Amino acid sequence: MLYPKQYDVIVIGGGHAGTEAALAAARMGQQTLLLTHNIETIGAMSCNPAIGGIGKGHLVKEIDALGGAMAHAADRGGIQFRILNARKGPAVRATRAQADRVRYKAAVLEIVQAQENLDLFMQAADDLIVENNRVCGVRTQMGLNFKAKAVVLTVGTFLGGKIHIGMENHSGGRAGDPPSIALAQRLRELPFRVERLKTGTPPRIDARSIDYSLLQAQPGDTPTPVFSYLGSRDDHPAQVACHITYTNQQTHDIILSSLDRSPLYSGVIEGTGPRYCPSIEDKVVRFAEKDKHQIFIEPEGLDTYEVYPNGISTSLPFDTQLSLVRSIVGFENAHITRPGYAIEYDYFDPRDLKPSLETKFIDGLFFAGQINGTTGYEEAGAQGLLAGMNAALQIQDKEAWCPKRNEAYIGVLVDDLITCGTQEPYRMFTSRAEHRLLLREDNADLRLTEIGHNLGLVDETRWRLFSEKQEQIEQELQRLRDTCIHPSQISDEQTQDVFGGKLSREYHMDELLRRPNVTYESLTSIEGAGPAVEDDAIAEQVEVQIKYAGYIERQQQEVSRQLRQENTALPEQLDYSDVSGLSNEVRQKFMDQRPTTIGQASRIPGITPAAISILLVHLKKNQ
Ligand code: FAD
Repeated sequence: MLYPKQYDVIVIGGGHAGTEAALAAARMGQQTLLLTHNIETIGAMSCNPAIGGIGKGHLVKEIDALGGAMAHAADRGGIQFRILNARKGPAVRATRAQADRVRYKAAVLEIVQAQENLDLFMQAADDLIVENNRVCGVRTQMGLNFKAKAVVLTVGTFLGGKIHIGMENHSGGRAGDPPSIALAQRLRELPFRVERLKTGTPPRIDARSIDYSLLQAQPGDTPTPVFSYLGSRDDHPAQVACHITYTNQQTHDIILSSLDRSPLYSGVIEGTGPRYCPSIEDKVVRFAEKDKHQIFIEPEGLDTYEVYPNGISTSLPFDTQLSLVRSIVGFENAHITRPGYAIEYDYFDPRDLKPSLETKFIDGLFFAGQINGTTGYEEAGAQGLLAGMNAALQIQDKEAWCPKRNEAYIGVLVDDLITCGTQEPYRMFTSRAEHRLLLREDNADLRLTEIGHNLGLVDETRWRLFSEKQEQIEQELQRLRDTCIHPSQISDEQTQDVFGGKLSREYHMDELLRRPNVTYESLTSIEGAGPAVEDDAIAEQVEVQIKYAGYIERQQQEVSRQLRQENTALPEQLDYSDVSGLSNEVRQKFMDQRPTTIGQASRIPGITPAAISILLVHLKKNQ
């Protein structure tokens, strides 16, 4: 049967990529269908109940700046908030929220259901309808055909998913959910490069069986951080503490004696696992010199006794899981509620994607999330938003929006993926961004909200609030530049504590704020220097922009220099066999990956500056 309504965009999969993709396309006015296995699992967190962290928090803020859902849902589901790296520079400070997984999921579903232009349908997608190399719809498990102008595929760990616990394995998309077998087979018939990856999750524990008196508590920060630029502390439910414990030598001995029954070490699992989120068996083998590993005990929610022991992801047999858990201080009588497991799944080589996340082989088909080789809710959400937005732009006959590496972490993520591919689950870190002083969490809205508004992604309420904030920042910056502080205004206590001695003359407030120990708060508490702005976000922005002005300007100059070369386009039909002076290896790499700009070409692994010079000379000669 053909469904009577014709859609502009169909998004397959209601995970973190899928919800952001569907919301973005619908916000931009496209008739959108979110087709997913189960409406009840929309926004489900497959693994750890947490949003954000280093690099990942930056992505969440960018999604928020473009009108997405993740930060709102984190504010409404967050039960412990922290700013990581709070004492370090602003580029690496990152927000992290421990989430109540039920509240988080409910918030996502509520946002999705409230979105205009967005329909939901619960059913597995089994096939893509492709005509003349263009996708034009989706066929579901029961043979229902949906027509659309573009399709965004976001099926996570479900394609050919295989779950491993010890030497036992079975098909599954994640614990309790079916795998996508028919769709996986169909996609393997299309010309994409498909490989296998794996990821894993720890056993969950009943909190009532843990002896918390032996553990170290880790409360959230005060005042409680807020994720969304439009959010407030009032959005948060009750806040709770996490706890910390450690593995020990006995735990490690139990693991080592069980490696012959580990699917990872006996060769049953072929896919590569996440380097930065390794299983406990991996950590014990790779870091044999370490006598303990830290475990964060993270509550799964306010209305459940289950906790998530972050740090002991494992696919060892269940009897080993129970022994290793019970060897840990505080867990001596632990009851496991769900076994840990590993999952292997298909992913597509992201080098087969354009910067818009449209596939190179089938027009109108976009890929986002875990299927592109990434790991993490935030990486998935960011790609989903970009793919949904670009699907909408394509339908509107507009140019795709592909953020540059100096504009957004989303740009870094996509550029890394489509240029270098990935052989292991890719996660974001601040260290992946060469211009990270420009790409801070605190300025994601200043970088992106105007772009989002112009693209139709950001609604009028957000735009108005953002414009007011921007104006207040400018006014306060100007006030600090214009206002002078006389030494007599400073109390004896401030003279010593803040300035380390007497001021020799009158200074402008912005000059004083550049001094290492002076903060916006201490500066505006000087008699006659106020009133300070009330909004913490504006105060933070003013402080960062003044304190780091020199570094920021230097980074901007560097970006301008690089951009001149970076944006030099490489013709789509460029015949690399004509470019003399390139080695065969380099030539082959260019022919395989067909970079679209010099910048992209320069980031292909193994490409030397000399090869780029040859390419530039060739382009100049053939202008
Ligand atoms: P998912 O969240 O997986 O969502 C996919 C959606 O597509 C689901 O709603 C599914 O029902 C739907 N779907 C699938 N096939 C079809 C179909 N044919 N038709 C209709 N709907 C379909 N991330 C980390 O950062 N760190 C970790 O340690 C970590 N460990 C993990 C451990 C496990 C066991 C699992 C399963 C995941 C883990 N993750 C981890 C990954 C994290 O869950 C994903 O990165 C994130 O959920 C990816 O989002 P996504 O939207 O791409 O896919």
